[in-house]
Amino acid sequence: MRVHHLDCGTLCPRGGRALLGEESEFVCHCLLIELPHSLVLVETGLGTSDIEEPRRLGMLFRGLVRPRLALEQTALTHVCALGFSPSDVRDVLVTHLDLDHAGGLSDFPEARLHLLRDEWQAAQKPSPRERSRYRAVQWEHAPEVHEYEAEGEAFHGFARARELDGLPPEIQLVSLPGHSRGHAGVAIDEGEGTLLHCGDAYFHHAEVSLDTHARPARGLDLFQSVVAHDNAVRRETQARLREAVRASDGRLRTTSAHDRSELAREHGAQA
Ligand SMILES: [Zn+2]
Repeated sequence: MRVHHLDCGTLCPRGGRALLGEESEFVCHCLLIELPHSLVLVETGLGTSDIEEPRRLGMLFRGLVRPRLALEQTALTHVCALGFSPSDVRDVLVTHLDLDHAGGLSDFPEARLHLLRDEWQAAQKPSPRERSRYRAVQWEHAPEVHEYEAEGEAFHGFARARELDGLPPEIQLVSLPGHSRGHAGVAIDEGEGTLLHCGDAYFHHAEVSLDTHARPARGLDLFQSVVAHDNAVRRETQARLREAVRASDGRLRTTSAHDRSELAREHGAQA
């Protein structure tokens, strides 16, 4: 299974240097997986419609998170540049439906959407506090939704969904709770090891990896606490991820949706 690592959006949050130190911008790290007869997209970043009609992202998001609106960064553009047709993308998995993760859904209207049931329910009926994170307009094309409970066999100590409809067993949905109501990670068994896309379960590689002297900027944890659905659970998830990475002896590799250096690591490994 070939996995492409795509950069599908740049976010330049206000106060970025205080939040992120030297790396004051977030990427939107998506994966494109080649199966024998189709493509699977993991995460969608910002989409064509968000860029053509930025109003749908809302004033608050545009003012505070300040997305760079670049058509050439969309998953759609990446898919075409790799020589594929958008209709080859038959399945999309998302870690959650925050607006910077769901924007590209409408660029692949025929694709099935796979996610945890709690997340889909939150997006359908958000609580007053959840309302600012979701944009129903991003899925008003009514994709075929496949929702899952995390009730399968454990994955490095985390609950996971049973086999995903129509997808090979190497691709799995793992519950990584806390950031949003039904937040998940997407695990890809690459044979010699497993890649776990952790979405927004963490934002900086030093939050989970041990072989680094880098330290996340102080404001980053505060930022994550403010946007977390359940902050205590979010912290516990991060601690358990750290332990899972340590205990895996190099067989478990993680990436956040937003850490630029992890995206560069993957590009470097492929070069
Ligand atoms: Zn995010």
